[in-house]
Formats: sequence, structure tokens, C-alpha cells
Amino acid sequence: MTRDPRHHIYERDKWTCQYCGRGGSDDFQAWNEAWLAIDHITPKKHGGSDKDSNLVVACHMCNSVKAADLCKSVEEGRLIIARKNQGRKEWFNKYVSKSEENT
Ligand SMILES: [Zn+2]
Repeated sequence: MTRDPRHHIYERDKWTCQYCGRGGSDDFQAWNEAWLAIDHITPKKHGGSDKDSNLVVACHMCNSVKAADLCKSVEEGRLIIARKNQGRKEWFNKYVSKSEENT
């Protein structure tokens, strides 16, 4: 197996999602479920670079939710993800959950 050329990013971020804290290098279960990937903080679509300073470790959930939204920092990324998750929760309560059907 060849080593990921971005292995040093994972090492730097301790195999932990920088947005929500999932992952880690101590527990296989946690690491496996996080499906860690490298995220461009500022998406390339918005002019983000491939430099280490623009790369962070993110779990598949945060990576998918954040997507290619304009973002300039990890802190802003967390806010974007929180806002979108809130929207998803409202959508879930409105269209998916049946819990209030009988109330
Ligand atoms: Zn995450």
C-alpha cells in the first residue's frame, strides 16, 4: 500500500474531524465510523489552495454537509455545518418523522 501523500495532514490533525471532533487514532470503531477525508476549508471552487493551511481532516458527515459552500476558516465551517444541520433537522421533523402524526 502506498502512503497517502496527505498523511501528514491526518497526523497534524490527530485523525480527528476538525469540525465535530469525530475520529481519533485510539479507537478503531470511532476512526472507522468517521470516514475521515481531507477537506478544503476554502473550496477550490472559491479559489481555495492545495496548501496545508487550507486543508483539514473532516469526517464524511461534515464533509458532505459543508460541501462547496464559501468558507474562510475552520470556525466558519463549524457554523455553516451547524446551520445546515439545523435546517436538516427541521426538514426531518416536517417531512420524515412520523412522531407527531398522532398528536
Ligand atoms: Zn465531523
